[in-house]
Amino acid sequence: MGPQIRGQQQGSNKAVLPRVPSPNDHMEEADYVIVGGGTAALVVACRLSENPETRIVVLERGEDTSSDARVQDPLVYESLMGSEMDWNLKGAPQAGLNGREFNQAAGKALGGSSVINGCIFLPPAAAAFNAWESLGNPGWNWETLAPCFQRAYTLHPRTGGPQSNTAGPIQVSYPVPTERADTTLLDAWKQAFEEHGYGYADELVSEGATIGTRPYTATIDPVSGHRSSAANGYGAIIASRANVRIVTGASVTRILFDSSAPHCHGSRGPDRSPGDRPIQTHQRGDHGCGRV
Ligand SMILES: Cc1cc2nc3c(=O)[nH]c(=O)nc-3n(C[C@H](O)[C@H](O)[C@H](O)COP(=O)(O)OP(=O)(O)OC[C@H]3O[C@@H](n4cnc5c(N)ncnc54)[C@H](O)[C@@H]3O)c2cc1C
Repeated sequence: MGPQIRGQQQGSNKAVLPRVPSPNDHMEEADYVIVGGGTAALVVACRLSENPETRIVVLERGEDTSSDARVQDPLVYESLMGSEMDWNLKGAPQAGLNGREFNQAAGKALGGSSVINGCIFLPPAAAAFNAWESLGNPGWNWETLAPCFQRAYTLHPRTGGPQSNTAGPIQVSYPVPTERADTTLLDAWKQAFEEHGYGYADELVSEGATIGTRPYTATIDPVSGHRSSAANGYGAIIASRANVRIVTGASVTRILFDSSAPHCHGSRGPDRSPGDRPIQTHQRGDHGCGRV
């Protein structure tokens, strides 16, 4: 089957892409072709498409599964591993583990692994960002990158009141553990850290000490109770832009480089069926790429 080409979307709990054709479905040329419509790819597509003059094509192997109940309900995420939304990768046999092979889940859907993951929102440490700079990357530090991180999410407070970070499309909340009535294990965990000098800190993002216990936050929309993913966050934004075309069911097998110029020529599907065709890139000619 050739790629399914769709265009625009509405509503965070509905499908991101509509079932009807849109005017940008026939965009055969682009300034940027992004290979894989996963977590990082949709962020990049969102940023690039802020300029309405820039034409972007996103090619994703999986489908738009945003309206699938298994994706929406964070509690059943384990059922997605091994499903059609998982690449079902397997690691090499490990000699040190008696030759066992381990499954390595990876999302195969619009939104990539963010539609099958465990929704745990674990903010990065400032020290981790600063380490990039110390490895010889000037400007790649907490001070310059923290604003980018903060643009990604909206943090919903535990007990009403104003939202503390409202810039981004990823909804972050403090889910109530179902075992709340019995916090014996959580209390013991906290106490163990405290006894070793690593106390509980209430702030989610810490620029200082990062070892210790923190509140549990998750990429779950507290209003709907649904997963907040790159698909229904960033994908929803870009699918409504006329300068972006999202193609699902598109398996990219090759990136053709023109030896006479430093840019890529196109991406195409696994066979030469009518639905599979190259996408020409112009001007910048850059290709992004998913994790897999
Ligand atoms: C089961 C699981 C649980 C996780 N739990 C958490 C968690 O609780 N908290 C957390 O922070 N992180 C978690 N992660 C990790 C996190 O989700 C990933 O690190 C992140 O989503 C990776 O983003 P990415 O853009 O690098 O790749 P992905 O989001 O995986 O995107 C890659 C995309 O490329 C597409 N693709 C690949 N090859 C091709 C091709 N040839 N043609 C077209 N498309 C292609 C894929 O289908 C996919 O959509 C989890 C991951 C998994 C798998």
